[in-house]
Amino acid sequence: MKRVYNFNPGPATLPLEVLQEVQAEFLDFDNSGMSIIEISHRSKNYEKVHNQAKADILELMGLGDEYEVLFIQGGASLQFAMIPMNFATKENPGSYALSGIFSTNAYKEAEILGVGQIAASTKAENFRRVPRQDEIKIAPNSAYFHVCYNNTIYGTEYHYIPETNGVPLFADMSSDMLSRPLNFKKFSLIYAGVQKNLGPAGVVVVVVKKSLVEKSLETLPTMLRYDTFYKKNSLFNTPPEFSIYFVGKVAAWIKNCGGLAEMAKRNSRKAEVLYAAIDESNNFYRGHAEKDSRSFMNVTFRLPNEELEKKFVAEALENNLIGVKGHRLVGGLRASIYNSMTLEGVEALADFMKKFRQSNG
Ligand SMILES: *Cc1c(COP(=O)(O)O)cnc(C)c1O
Repeated sequence: MKRVYNFNPGPATLPLEVLQEVQAEFLDFDNSGMSIIEISHRSKNYEKVHNQAKADILELMGLGDEYEVLFIQGGASLQFAMIPMNFATKENPGSYALSGIFSTNAYKEAEILGVGQIAASTKAENFRRVPRQDEIKIAPNSAYFHVCYNNTIYGTEYHYIPETNGVPLFADMSSDMLSRPLNFKKFSLIYAGVQKNLGPAGVVVVVVKKSLVEKSLETLPTMLRYDTFYKKNSLFNTPPEFSIYFVGKVAAWIKNCGGLAEMAKRNSRKAEVLYAAIDESNNFYRGHAEKDSRSFMNVTFRLPNEELEKKFVAEALENNLIGVKGHRLVGGLRASIYNSMTLEGVEALADFMKKFRQSNG
């Protein structure tokens, strides 16, 4: 068996220990004589998995009884629409900070509904950084203020929690969910498509204040209402059992490793290694993100020309370093180094960067 170092942005690398555990119990889950994808979502075996995953996510985030975890399909992209549908009106619009493609896509859904406002944008600077606090202008009548906490494509991340003066703070954390401790109590709603940092595609984890989702607008169809998921423990219809089961395993793996503090330690060490390889390269590698907005999850950089970038991707591949091509909108290279990327993998990439520079610089 050959495993590569997988730097893909999502679907992305997952912990080997978890993959092995899932494989080992695949044919006979919990002594049921069936696999997890063959058992009823109303069975006791499944219910245990479902509720434990929810409990572990809240525990890792240090959140208590005022919060609920929902499992919803449709990807983070459906959350872009559900959020304004459920919470924003013309009188109380949703306010958005634009810091990249996904936050812009989130805003566009609110715009379609005629309930979106822009509170800040760094588009003029090609999204090289996230907005600073003093640039954020949230209208006081806003229903919420929405940020994308880690910008997967541009490789930037908030390193502060925006102050909103009482407006509920909502965050897309698809690419940095459970990657470090934060004062999550400052957020009213956090969501993440799990295929970046937590599991296989197919489910979104929504962590939300219960008071927000106890009742949705009567005019919304059933499956677009948060209260449908809230009232039925995300079991109104058949949930994506395998994705939720896997997310539960990853949450347990994080707990075993030492929780979010340990994740933060590992992730900052990995990011340090790659940013050092960029900063010590005499401008052969140029980071896309401004230093104080650098992401600990997605490291984006350019080479002197596109030809070298192509060569870099091709030679990286020969060295078992997969998925380092940047997004077409930014160009260049991107290494995604989520929780499950090992320091060993990152060091292999940094070594390769050094050698590549020596032979091509
Ligand atoms: C990948 C990504 C999305 C889109 O997620 P889907 O589940 O594919 O809809 C949204 N936001 C961020 C930050 C992402 O990284």
